[in-house]
Amino acid sequence: MRALVFEEFGGPLTVRSVPEPRPAPDGVVVQVGASGICRSDWHGWSGHDPDVVLPHVPGHELAGTVAAVGERVRSWSVGDRVTVPFVCACGHCPPCREGAGQVCLDQTQPGFTHWGSLAELVALDAADVNLVALPEGMPFATAAGLGCRFATAFRAVTGVGRVVPGEWVAVHGCGGVGLSAVQVAVAAGARVVAVDVSPGALELAAACGAEHLVDGAGDVPAAVAELTGGGAHVSLDALGAAVTCLNSIRSLRRRGRHVQVGLLPPAVGRPEVPMELVIAGELAVLGSHGMAAADYPAMLSLIEAGRLHPELLVTRRLGLDDAGAALAAVGREPGIAVVTSF
Ligand SMILES: [Zn+2]
Ligand SMILES: [Zn+2]
Repeated sequence: MRALVFEEFGGPLTVRSVPEPRPAPDGVVVQVGASGICRSDWHGWSGHDPDVVLPHVPGHELAGTVAAVGERVRSWSVGDRVTVPFVCACGHCPPCREGAGQVCLDQTQPGFTHWGSLAELVALDAADVNLVALPEGMPFATAAGLGCRFATAFRAVTGVGRVVPGEWVAVHGCGGVGLSAVQVAVAAGARVVAVDVSPGALELAAACGAEHLVDGAGDVPAAVAELTGGGAHVSLDALGAAVTCLNSIRSLRRRGRHVQVGLLPPAVGRPEVPMELVIAGELAVLGSHGMAAADYPAMLSLIEAGRLHPELLVTRRLGLDDAGAALAAVGREPGIAVVTSF
C-alpha cells in the first residue's frame, strides 16, 4: 500500500510502498477515506513522542471503511463506514471500566504506538470498544475530524470545562482544535474570545462565531479581562505552548476553569504555572485528552440536528503526495488540511 513514511525525526516525509497491515484478533483494518493533519502528527515527526518507533507512518484522525476484521470482533463487518477516537482504549482496565477510555492504561494510538492513517490502510485495535459508526451521508473529510480535533474540543468544552450558557470562554490558539472549540462553545451558548497570533486564524475563528478576537502577541490576559468584564469563566489552551498555557490561566476570573487541550511535551518547554493565582482565585487547572467512543453519541446527535457543523472546519483537501509538506508546515498556514485521496 502507499503510505507517508519518515525514517528519522524531523527528516524527509516521503510517500512509498510499504507492507499492508493485518488486523489483530480483536481489531480491524480500515481503508482510509480521509485523514486530517494535526499538530500531534507534527510532534510525533519532531521526536516529541516517546511512543514513536522509526521508520514510522503518521496520521491519527481518520474516517474510512472497514476492509478486514479480526476473528474475535463481534460488532463490525467489512464495508462499515467508521471513525475512531485517536486513543483506542483496551476496554477492561480500571479507567475503561469507569467509562474513561480516553485515559486507558493500555491504550494504543494509530500514528503513534503503531503506523497511522496517512496511508491507504490502517490497523485499529479493540474494534468493539473503539469504532464509531458514521451518520449516513457524512463525508469522510468531515468525519475524519471526529477522530481527534472535533471530539477533543467537544469534550474539553462540554465534559471537562462544563461550559454553561452565558459564560465567557477564551480559546488560546485557533488551529484545528481551537476552531472546533470556538464552534462547540458558541453552540453551548457561551460567548467566545478567540486568541491567536495569526490574523488568518482569527478570521476563521470569527466565522466560527467568536465574538471578540485578540492578537496573541499582545497582553492577552489584560485584553480578555477587559472584554469579559473581569476574565473568562473557562479558558482553553488549544495550542500547547508555555505562553498559551500561562495566558489561559491568567485570563480567568475568580473560580475559573483552565482546560489544557494542546499537547505540551517537555521538549516544547514546561510552563511555570502560577500556583499563587490558582490558590488566590480558586482556579481549576484541568487536562482533557480526547473522548472515549462511548461518549460520541451526544456529539453525533448535535451534528445530525444541525447544531454543530464540523464540515465548516475543513479548509484544504490534499492528496497523500502533498501530505508531507503540509505536516511539516503545521501551524504556518491557518485552517485545517485533510488528505482525501491516497
Ligand atoms: Zn490530533
Ligand atoms: Zn483500558
